[in-house]
Amino acid sequence: MKIIIIGGGRNETSTLQTLAETTSIEILGIVIEPYDEESIELAEAFNIPIVHDCGDLSEKTDIDLIVDLSEPDGVGKKNCDRKPVGVDVIDRSTAKLLCRLLQSESRSTYDLIDKLTREHWSLYEIGISLSSAKDLAEVSQKIVEQATVLTNAPASSLAIYDEEPDEMYFSASTGFRSGIAIQKSWKPRENGLTNYILNHKGPVTISNMDNHPEFHNPELVSEGVKSLIACALTLDEKVVGIIYVDDFNPRDFTEHDISIISLLSTYAAMAIEKAKLLEETRLLSITDDLTQLYNHRYLVQQLLTELSRAKRYQEPLSFIIMDIDNFKQYNDTHGHVKGNEVLKQLAALLKKVSRTYDIVSRYGGEEFTIVCPKTNKQNAFDFAERIRRMIENTEFPDAHTQPLGRITVSIGIAGFPDDTRDPLGLIDKADIALYLAKGSGRNCVCAYDEIEDTAM
Ligand code: GH3
Ligand code: MG
Ligand code: MG
Repeated sequence: MKIIIIGGGRNETSTLQTLAETTSIEILGIVIEPYDEESIELAEAFNIPIVHDCGDLSEKTDIDLIVDLSEPDGVGKKNCDRKPVGVDVIDRSTAKLLCRLLQSESRSTYDLIDKLTREHWSLYEIGISLSSAKDLAEVSQKIVEQATVLTNAPASSLAIYDEEPDEMYFSASTGFRSGIAIQKSWKPRENGLTNYILNHKGPVTISNMDNHPEFHNPELVSEGVKSLIACALTLDEKVVGIIYVDDFNPRDFTEHDISIISLLSTYAAMAIEKAKLLEETRLLSITDDLTQLYNHRYLVQQLLTELSRAKRYQEPLSFIIMDIDNFKQYNDTHGHVKGNEVLKQLAALLKKVSRTYDIVSRYGGEEFTIVCPKTNKQNAFDFAERIRRMIENTEFPDAHTQPLGRITVSIGIAGFPDDTRDPLGLIDKADIALYLAKGSGRNCVCAYDEIEDTAM
């Protein structure tokens, strides 16, 4: 819109400023008396062209509006009489009202731009922080936290899809009273909420769960979730997981909430895939191919970590090493492939009988180790004896050809702090004990003993 302003002294500063700063308004000029220095100064400050001669106005044919800010008996009176035909004139009070409207509009536009800019930055930062997150747990936590911030919601959770058992499990949550069961896994029900979300194009919103009894599940009900946005995370058309944004009150999520979660979910899907890939690679590098137990490298690394923890907290730690008796004979009789099956079966037994924080590894060929944190030598001895008996009583294919008529193991044990404070010393001493077990007729457990060692 092209306008001409007439008059406008110090009292009109804010009106002039608003008009000058409104991008949709072009001020063609301001008519000021040549002696009115105060107004001239003001017009110059806002970069508005000054016109002294009122006659110039009538030559302007492309004016949309004249804004008369002059005093009733000032410069405006004379000029308005000579205004171009068909151009409307508004007076000071109308101009003030107009400016107030312009200001409030520009304030809400500014607020919107400010909000969008902040969101843009937070998404950018999410992208950066997700790509630098070290593992899936960290990535997941960041995603749920950002989801609540971006939508101003009290809670959020993230479910990851595991292809292998075809299950979902919660990898992170925030804002729940008792906490969504992390690591709890479930198979999507045919008509359940998960399947509905996975089959839905775009995010699903539920404003009031009370109206959707078909989607009730014990977890959501016990947490008191009343409304949600759920968005399937996909990458190359593959399901990666689901992000849930929850409220404990019925709520109509806005289009804006939904679109921001949609946007977050694309970042999230990529970050989760990357973290999963890194974790798989890491797992491969610490796992023994044949038995799926930890490998030798990881064992040594964890032994160092666990031993320094045991020292710090003044807790005992035991190290168990076992070796299959006469295994060469088994291989020679039945072949390497069958021997491998025995190794796999035995590894699975060890994994099953151990506690979650025991570190069970394949030390080498037909040798296995278990690091037992918080376990003194006597308890480790009892545990090892249990393992020995269990193996002795397990049916392995064609084991009757073995010298003892079964697959058996000999076991050596050493303990911290009783035998040594040094990790490698612990392995050596357990190995000496194993050697003693072999010498004592095999299929038995020996704990390291300083006196016996000296006697050897
Ligand atoms: P001992 O009771 O003294 O331990 O006798 P042993 O025959 O078990 O001991 P030895 O060290 O002479 O032989 C170990 C055998 O373990 C040699 C090899 O045939 C077998 N072995 C080692 N690694 C593997 C493996 O990965 N697969 C199979 N099938 N056999 C293996
Ligand atoms: Mg051996
Ligand atoms: Mg052996």
